[in-house]
Amino acid sequence: MKNKTKYLVTAALPYANNYIHIGHVAGAYLSPDIYVRYRRLKNDDVIFISGSDEHGTAIEMASIIEKVTPQEIIDRYHFSNKKAFEDLGIQFDIFSRTSSEIHHKTAQEFFLNLINKDILIKKSDKQLYSEKEKRFLADRFITGTCPVCGYEEARGDECENCGSNLSPLELINPRSKITGDIPVEKETTHYYFPLGKYQEKLSDWIFSKTDWKPNVINYCKGWFKAGLRDRAITRDLDWGVKVPVEGNDGKVIYVWFEAPIGYISMTKELFIERNDSDKWKEYWCSEDSKLIHFIGKDNIVFHSIVFPAMLMAHGDFNLPYNIPANEFLNIGGEKFSKSRGNGILVKDIVKYFEPDVIRYSIASSFPENKDSEFNWKDLLSRNNNELAAILGNFINRTVVFAKSKFNNVIPGEESINNLDQEILDQFRRSSDSVSAFYDNFRFRDALSETMNAVRSANKYFNDSEPWKLFKNDKERCGAVIHTCLELCHSIAVLISPVLPFTAEKILKILNKDKSDFNWSNIGRRVLKSGTELGETEILFPQIEDSQIEKIISDESESNAVKNGKGSGNLIELDDFRKVNLKIARIINCEKVAKSKKLLKLKLIVGGIEKQIVSGIAEYYTPEDLIGKLIVVVDNLKPAKLMGIDSEGMLLAAKNNGELKIITVEGEISDGAEVN
Ligand SMILES: [Zn+2]
Repeated sequence: MKNKTKYLVTAALPYANNYIHIGHVAGAYLSPDIYVRYRRLKNDDVIFISGSDEHGTAIEMASIIEKVTPQEIIDRYHFSNKKAFEDLGIQFDIFSRTSSEIHHKTAQEFFLNLINKDILIKKSDKQLYSEKEKRFLADRFITGTCPVCGYEEARGDECENCGSNLSPLELINPRSKITGDIPVEKETTHYYFPLGKYQEKLSDWIFSKTDWKPNVINYCKGWFKAGLRDRAITRDLDWGVKVPVEGNDGKVIYVWFEAPIGYISMTKELFIERNDSDKWKEYWCSEDSKLIHFIGKDNIVFHSIVFPAMLMAHGDFNLPYNIPANEFLNIGGEKFSKSRGNGILVKDIVKYFEPDVIRYSIASSFPENKDSEFNWKDLLSRNNNELAAILGNFINRTVVFAKSKFNNVIPGEESINNLDQEILDQFRRSSDSVSAFYDNFRFRDALSETMNAVRSANKYFNDSEPWKLFKNDKERCGAVIHTCLELCHSIAVLISPVLPFTAEKILKILNKDKSDFNWSNIGRRVLKSGTELGETEILFPQIEDSQIEKIISDESESNAVKNGKGSGNLIELDDFRKVNLKIARIINCEKVAKSKKLLKLKLIVGGIEKQIVSGIAEYYTPEDLIGKLIVVVDNLKPAKLMGIDSEGMLLAAKNNGELKIITVEGEISDGAEVN
């Protein structure tokens, strides 16, 4: 006998160095939540897994910059994001973390499994090593002089001054960003996963997936065309899952390799919590289980190529059944939002709106096949013109009618006729269409079909004219209102994947328990005549323009607080006063030998001669500059650029590839303070 299908649904592991925003929700979290809720209504066996991705250089570096432990960083974001998901009704069976012991153990076992099968390759190359810190320095941990422009604070992976991509070994005078120690080149050995070996198997597998979304398939085609290569799966870092092989001190498993294993370890953890510790295997290893990864498009390569190749190499686990990746949801409309990219944080937006209104608004514009847009005005019109005018209206008019004309009880169903049966049948058919859409991960279509069903309920109410029947044929009127109340129950079930909080409210209004709350009861009569109804409530209060305007002004204010004028934090006046800005006169200027970008300037500031080196040679010739009055930071720590002392910095404005030095109009003494 064939076992019942199991659904193992995962949502991308959010990286624990940022707060979840609604772009994330639209990409990888709301659709699986809707899907899982739908499956549960169909009595399917489904579990929903996610958790924080808590390793990697970004977290280690953030902890160093903030002078806190990595644990503090990950705790901050893990717990905040967990709560944000809960506030939005995203209901995981488990939302765990890759810093957990069970994850470390599971990832190490996976790694050892591949070692024992002789799948991993060891390769040596030279990297920068700090004798003082006794460790190799990953790229973000190194700073040095840019070989391209001579800027002395270039990062190991990039020069912020000229924008060149660099590797740590290219830096001149490299040093540790943390201790300033001068590292040496030293051989280091890392494990590599031979991804290229799996290309054929992967492409056969992916191209056999006729029902996958085209964006996912096309993305993979691009990767196959470029050719898959060996990928390093270990790094010289402290923060992470230690490499479980002797002689690898100071090495951790690369985060891209261990994080997806988190799906497995979190499933284990879930069933340990449920005192059924072997049951996770039924979801990961048995043929009747379907693994479905919900992700945003930025994660396609890891879920459709890298992780499946790892699973193929390991051999014990199922490959993904589907990967319904979404495109991006962009934030549009108001100017302030654009400045934040898609940065409307969930923890902020839930303060302003009911979670269902947010869910509905996002689900209506899911970026399923292409990027889509979200804005506040759209949320307002979705609430007022759809949720309130169609859904809220039907529930409210039905219940208010029953309250006032039938003494607040569900009227009898004695004189039900074909028309009443027809609307219920229509609901059953709608539920089949909605099912088909959900089964194929077409959430927007499912939602519009759902709302069409609610529209048809309103039409049935209007066409039946219960207010006329009440005067002429009270029994027929009762049958119509009874049917409308049944429709309210059906609607509660039908909308509940998207609007779970509203569904609960409708049940309360109907004074109905959850015993009939499942998909197969849509379009069925489940209410008892004579039952007293519960308290009514307005499900979707109107959202006013003024509310939106207030949010926009609050947001731009908090935006201003967060961003200052576009970079860093707002500062106190005292902070500004620490910077000595002074007027300087350029008395001499020459090009720096062997540098395309640097000019050496001699200045007089308050009668004192100074020398600065500035990366402006592409914009000015020495002749342009001599004699000009400019603004300099007079108390900047001296630095060396291409071996030349620089005792300050001139101010210049740069935009779209143009650069203009800040000069002074008219005559003023050098040394004059600027403030
Ligand atoms: Zn540079």
